[in-house]
Amino acid sequence: MRTITHVLASGGTAEAARQSEIFDPNNGGVQGKVDLGDAKVLETAVQSALAAQPEWAATNPQRRARVMFKFKELLEANMDELAELLSREHGKVIADSKGDIQRGLEVIEYCCGIPQALKGEYTQGAGPGIDVYSMRQPLGIGAGITPFNFPAMIPMWMFGPAIATGNAFILKPSERDPSVPVRLVELMLEAGLPEGILQCVHGDKEMVDAILDHPEIAAVSFVGSSDIAHYVYQRGVAAGKRVQAMGGAKNHGIVMPDADLDQVVGDLCGAAFGSAGERCMALPVAVPVGEDTANRLREKLIPAIHALKIGVSTDPDAHYGPVINHAHKDRVEGWIQKGVDEGAELVVDGRGFSLQGHEEGCFVGPSLFDHVTTDMESYKEEIFGPVLQLVRAHDFEEALRLPSAHQYGNGVAIFTRNGHAAREFANRVNVGMVGINVPIPVPVSYHSFGGWKRSGFGDTDQYGQEGIRFWTKVKKVTARWPDGGGDGSNAFVIPTMG
Ligand code: NAD
Repeated sequence: MRTITHVLASGGTAEAARQSEIFDPNNGGVQGKVDLGDAKVLETAVQSALAAQPEWAATNPQRRARVMFKFKELLEANMDELAELLSREHGKVIADSKGDIQRGLEVIEYCCGIPQALKGEYTQGAGPGIDVYSMRQPLGIGAGITPFNFPAMIPMWMFGPAIATGNAFILKPSERDPSVPVRLVELMLEAGLPEGILQCVHGDKEMVDAILDHPEIAAVSFVGSSDIAHYVYQRGVAAGKRVQAMGGAKNHGIVMPDADLDQVVGDLCGAAFGSAGERCMALPVAVPVGEDTANRLREKLIPAIHALKIGVSTDPDAHYGPVINHAHKDRVEGWIQKGVDEGAELVVDGRGFSLQGHEEGCFVGPSLFDHVTTDMESYKEEIFGPVLQLVRAHDFEEALRLPSAHQYGNGVAIFTRNGHAAREFANRVNVGMVGINVPIPVPVSYHSFGGWKRSGFGDTDQYGQEGIRFWTKVKKVTARWPDGGGDGSNAFVIPTMG
């Protein structure tokens, strides 16, 4: 049985006092263990980071970019191995694992252009003989705490911009699927990154608290569930850090009466059930506008859901694989029962699904609820499983209000052929990322990613220029090169450029 341990610049660590089990979602058993670190392990990482960071910050950005280029090459060369490892621990199908890696790789590609992204601003002649310029400088040491559901993409969202801008970075990945994050760190070192600039520590709340309290860690980026995101935000900010903390989601897909329903059904099935619904940009709520739209949509959804193929993560024909572990399967099935108890109509029941030959696997069949209402807990909370809920709206205004009033505000989509309705919706909806006929509107790497309300605490998004801003601070220089003729008569008055 494999044991995953920390990747520290100083080499090995003493045997861990605590470990956590890594489950195999395809058969429910234990496939490995991961060391759970503490403040002592973190201190070792911080000391190495402190020693290495100044030289890395002084390395010119073009040279830093070369490491990113090399890392991109290595990711591409190792794509199959990484995807297989990712599927084995997470349970998502191989093609989806490749997508997970690819979306992270695109952030690395953006970071290859760091010299351009880091260029500052310059004003010549802001006053008599005075020039003003600003530059972005690294914060020092940053840390990232990541969730289980995107073990490749989300670490790269964070360490790509953090390192490209000259910081040292300590990654604390999910203890549920830590192997791919470890491989990513190894590949960065193989790409020529100096020791100490990227390290990986494992752990649970104890390690997270140590990170949040450490005085040498200047910034923390977190992605995970909302209660923990909020906790991380508050504790990190109280310790004087810069913190961005992305949380959970409950994305709605508005289906207008004029939408192409065949297209919508395909999009909804992919976005609600793909990756077993374990995506923060999944679309677990569909809002058909008008009774007729609702009835037509339901009629088309039922056979499409029955046609979905659930399989082991290595099955190339499977639409989706198991959920992460048995505890999560129980949780998802508990939410389905809750929906029934609350009075929603369970049209397709995914509970009790068993895959032949993998009866112990953590599989959950697809479920469809109709007549879900906004007072139900199963509507208010994130289920994070293969469950699609229909909430019927009378008109556009009601459909617009639903995602706007929901506690989460990560993503939302509208399906329509009406440009005016789409534009109106995008302008007015109180949600951070909007798709127009796009079910999973994860912005490309040169824009940025971030939700609103309880989906995101802090005011800076992940990646793109927002990521550069998060991982840097701005220094402003006002320079005067006098010709020697001044008399200094205004030296006691606040300087103005007038
Ligand atoms: P999680 O909140 O359980 O764990 C996230 C991280 O927090 C992990 O590294 C974990 O070790 C750590 N952690 C767990 N319990 C902790 C505690 N009590 N104190 C401090 N740290 C703790 O999330 P998860 O189950 O791994 O991931 C799924 C969640 O992440 C979903 O809610 C999903 O919507 C969300 N998510 C959000 C985004 C986004 O960008 N908004 C992206 C992906 C996932």
